[in-house]
Amino acid sequence: MMYRNFDHVGCMELGTVFDLPAEIYGAQASAISDIRASGFPTPNSWALSMDAVRNFSKSVDTNQWPIISLLQSGTLLSVRSSPEKRKWGGPSEMLNVGMNNNVFKTLRDSNTGSVAARLYCTFIQDFAIQTAGSDGDSYNALVKKIVEHPNDDHTSVIEHCFCLFENEVGIPFPQDPVDQLGQVLQSMSRAWESTTSRILREALGAPQDAGLGLLIQEAMLGSIKEEFGVGQAQFVSPVTGATTVHGSYQSHFRGKEMPLIGLDTNPNAADTPELSLEIACPDAFRALASLADRLRKHCHDEMRLEFSIDGSNVFLLDIIPAQRSRRAEISIAVQLKKLGVISRDEALVRVDPESLNEVMHPQIGSRQELRQIAEGIGASPGAASGMAVFSAQSAMALKARGQSAILVSVETSPDDIHGMHSSGGIVTQRGGSNSHAAVVARALGVPCVVGALGLSIESDKKKFTSSDGTEVAEGDVITLDGASGKILWGAVDLAQPELGEDFHEFIQWADSVRTLGIRANADTPHDVELARAFSVDGIGLVRTEHMLFESDRLKIMHELIFESTDIKRQKSLDALLPMLRDDFVEIFSTMKGLPVCIRLLDPPLHEFLPKSNDHIEALASAMKISVSEITEKIEGLQEFNPMLGMRGVRLGITVPAIYDMQARAIFEAVCEVEQRTAADVAPEIMIPLVVTNQEVEFVKTRIAAIAALVEAERGRKLMYSLGVMVETPRAALQAGKIAQNIDFMSFGTNDLTQMVYGLSRDDSGRFMRDYIRLGIFPEDPFDSLDIDGVAKIMTLAIDDARSVKPGLSIGLCGEHGGDTKSVWICHDIGIDYVSCSPFRVPIAKLAAAQAVLIKTRKRKT
Ligand code: PEP
Ligand code: MG
Repeated sequence: MMYRNFDHVGCMELGTVFDLPAEIYGAQASAISDIRASGFPTPNSWALSMDAVRNFSKSVDTNQWPIISLLQSGTLLSVRSSPEKRKWGGPSEMLNVGMNNNVFKTLRDSNTGSVAARLYCTFIQDFAIQTAGSDGDSYNALVKKIVEHPNDDHTSVIEHCFCLFENEVGIPFPQDPVDQLGQVLQSMSRAWESTTSRILREALGAPQDAGLGLLIQEAMLGSIKEEFGVGQAQFVSPVTGATTVHGSYQSHFRGKEMPLIGLDTNPNAADTPELSLEIACPDAFRALASLADRLRKHCHDEMRLEFSIDGSNVFLLDIIPAQRSRRAEISIAVQLKKLGVISRDEALVRVDPESLNEVMHPQIGSRQELRQIAEGIGASPGAASGMAVFSAQSAMALKARGQSAILVSVETSPDDIHGMHSSGGIVTQRGGSNSHAAVVARALGVPCVVGALGLSIESDKKKFTSSDGTEVAEGDVITLDGASGKILWGAVDLAQPELGEDFHEFIQWADSVRTLGIRANADTPHDVELARAFSVDGIGLVRTEHMLFESDRLKIMHELIFESTDIKRQKSLDALLPMLRDDFVEIFSTMKGLPVCIRLLDPPLHEFLPKSNDHIEALASAMKISVSEITEKIEGLQEFNPMLGMRGVRLGITVPAIYDMQARAIFEAVCEVEQRTAADVAPEIMIPLVVTNQEVEFVKTRIAAIAALVEAERGRKLMYSLGVMVETPRAALQAGKIAQNIDFMSFGTNDLTQMVYGLSRDDSGRFMRDYIRLGIFPEDPFDSLDIDGVAKIMTLAIDDARSVKPGLSIGLCGEHGGDTKSVWICHDIGIDYVSCSPFRVPIAKLAAAQAVLIKTRKRKT
């Protein structure tokens, strides 16, 4: 029989057990048990259960253990931690337990005195560190002496080690192997129970009562006349996932570290600096590579092998999934599928959609000193270094000089859009993950940190001071990490994104599995082209206000707002019409018949007002009125709460000529594109911020009238659909009634979240981090759809609307459309498509594919 069960004494010999439970014996023991039972070469191994190890802190009774006779006969053992989850850590491994004068003599007598002495000295050092908390430093010089004078008699060095030990620990170094093992087990048990270890592992998600299993393995010393040592290797690059060899090997035989592969020059010279394991021990290296191959198939994954070499034999001490960056994670999944090791569906569920963020944006390179000066909420991923600037104009000026700017602002507003376009990164003191800066930065694919409350920004003096006292003036270089929210001093090395073939193939697999439509939010012809490059199913939201911030258009908007008669207002609208029509022509042409959903004007008019004195003066002179008249008008337009004030459909009803002009621009553009391309264009026109059916009826009638006029003028039949944004709770509760009048609805979950929670999306940054830190909110509801509130209201609305119109198309176009968990929820509650910023499209696609696969799996079980 290959194994005997000594579990009644807490010590299990491994051999034929495939499913040794990790929750009782730990992950390492479980992995070794499985591969040993599957015929992989491993040293003789025993697992100690967590219950047994817990008791070791009081006393260790090894009486009935099968390994005791082995120990007593001179076999050396190593003891390794085996917690339930590897990431919970555990005390360092202890090698060569059982080493004493007798074993040393036997090893030395086989003519390898210096190797034996080094092992003995290192063991005494490790034993002192492990069992008595010594720092072990004083032994280093002794080990070095042995290595440098291999032919000496090392007895005196060993004696010296004994003295060091006795002086430090207060008792002689124990010669009894059983006593050694007992002390090692007790110290490991106590180390696990220490307060520091407990805090560290609890921070990594371990429960309070997490136990430690231990794995005992026979040390592989062979004859110690030929190569022996330990190492770790994986056969894929942890950075790119490409096939290569990565790892290290510590040759105990040669007393030095060797590369696994290298530029070897002289294979026979043991001290050639580049001598690699591959050349020095080709048989062992081949065995290692073949084990990696077998393990890939056995574990259905790339594994990191911890191994020991004994002559030309390789033994596995542990196997762990290979280390991999987010980028490597995708390549490994694709390669495993191509090798037939896993299925396409398995590859898709293995990759965390949020990893794609890292792959698509520059990241802060590893191994460099970073000086953090402030922190906020990471609102748009990626990293950027550049000169701090405090106005949109300065950002544009820097860009024109070919330099990178980081725009630092208390908060941004729509008229900063050009400066934001010109910036490599954006930092705002205020705001949350759905504030203006965050939404625009994500659309542009630019890193952004919002809610950096510790900054004191003096835009007029062109500087900010961080809470640690660092002053940053315009032109000083800073770096920001839009994922972690960190703001750093100076420039840092950035790792640039590389979307290789694997990435594109992987996303195509996701496309072939998902059932949820993925559209992009895109506001200008340029954005639409970008969205097209991400192979979207359509455009889910064109925020038409963003077409109006070009300086020539903004000027007309100002006139529109400040003119007092309908006739003069109409003149401004007539001037805007061809500009918008041209944009729509480009958008429809780019999308080639794919759906395009255009939202009629939404923001409060105050967002278009001139803010600086320069702008006010320029406007006054252009309109030939006084500055005071302008300022009076601006004051007259101020609202206490503009986000709940004169915006959205309210604007469309009180100044209907604006929506009329927009509808005409859309319809005329449809006619032009249809005429030019002979293809059908059927725009979706969306009304924002509705709360009642009557608003819909009002706008619907006017749009139908404009459509009829254009049809008559152009002699064409127009096809269009009309829908609403459901972004107020009342619209959701009225969905059934509203559905009778519309062809589609789209949830604006930014506003809906704001209104369901009664939480300002622009100010939530002030307290959101505290709320999350204290566990009051599990996460920022502006980032990830709130399943208990917002999604519940959405479900009510969907059921109500579809009870009236079963086939009603329903989308979501808030920022949640690019968040994995929100996409899963959307799939589950029956949404037809989500629409997100173009750079988040791959995430949404993968999440949507996973929603299908995970659901299917659940159904199967
Ligand atoms: C929304 O409210 O979810 C939305 C998409 O509109 P906006 O962000 O422009 O208010
Ligand atoms: Mg909205």
